[in-house]
Amino acid sequence: MATNDPGLPGGEQITAPGPNTPVPGTPAVDGQTTQPGLTVTKPEAAAPGDSAVSNQPTVPQTALTTVQQGNIWGKRVPVIAVRNLTKTYILGKKTRVPALRGISLEVYPGEFVAVMGPSGSGKSTFMNLIGCLDRPTSGEYWLAGKLVSRLSSDELADIRNRLLGFVFQGYNLLGRASALKNVALPMVYAGLSARERDNRARKVLTLVGLGGRMSHKPAELSGGQQQRVAIARALVNGPSLLLADEPTGNLDSRTGVEIMAVLQALNDQGLTIVVVTHDPKVANYARRQVAFLDGRIVRDELVLAPRSAQEEWDALAKAPTAGGKTQIEEELP
Ligand code: ADP
Repeated sequence: MATNDPGLPGGEQITAPGPNTPVPGTPAVDGQTTQPGLTVTKPEAAAPGDSAVSNQPTVPQTALTTVQQGNIWGKRVPVIAVRNLTKTYILGKKTRVPALRGISLEVYPGEFVAVMGPSGSGKSTFMNLIGCLDRPTSGEYWLAGKLVSRLSSDELADIRNRLLGFVFQGYNLLGRASALKNVALPMVYAGLSARERDNRARKVLTLVGLGGRMSHKPAELSGGQQQRVAIARALVNGPSLLLADEPTGNLDSRTGVEIMAVLQALNDQGLTIVVVTHDPKVANYARRQVAFLDGRIVRDELVLAPRSAQEEWDALAKAPTAGGKTQIEEELP
């Protein structure tokens, strides 16, 4: 079953799974842990790390020319293209903190990139810039082909709502609102009718395996389920890019695997994802790793064999629990 609902992740590139498409960690009726959205049409092979491995010049202007004048190099427009991005914080009158010292990077549609590095290396600063939450001190940033680094705060807010979905470590859900209301909220700003908001929110909640929990409030959900609600909320406006900041940081390792499986399944469906993490294990689920140190990129490479969170989840789900049953048996009614 396939639909082309523009409100689903990745917009037109994705043939979204139908309402019955299972997601990781959802026991199927036959008791087998299920595979993530396999009924989808994968986008044309992404170009992870193209900029790192290609000899072709990779200035973003040229990528735009590709769109305007035809397919010069057979390349697609990067979702993110930054050139010589710097950010210097000014503290008091004299202290300047150079948080980013000239970052150049491209991320193409369908990539799953982990931005990694120790504390203080500039990850959050970079995330704030590519998330249009802050402006660089110098350098350029093209988001989906549009130069955004010099836009006003209002224009950035508009771009954020239309093109970006955010997932944070702390979920950031409204405590008094149901999962459905939390997910429907971003669509208020998109000017959709209440009925349309409700329909779309139900679809994305089903997509992340929470079809049976729509009226639950955050306190009535597990940490993993709350993070799924947050992911659904991030997807509901059909973003070009999902930005996740330490998405498993508040979760135990088992639930962390579950959330990474959801993200990998969405990436398999074509959604472009950038995860910021200090945890190398989390970064090993990505297809490309970009390592920051002291405000610079010190490594940018493909992950040849990313960990499969779905396989790890399957193994965990089948392992006996303290009660002598498997996880699946315990979760079945
Ligand atoms: P990370 O996310 O990798 O821990 P950050 O981007 O938060 O790194 O920080 C990079 C550098 O910028 C650090 O030296 C940090 O102290 C500094 N920094 C971050 N935010 C601010 C701020 N708002 N004002 C001043 N300095 C900051």
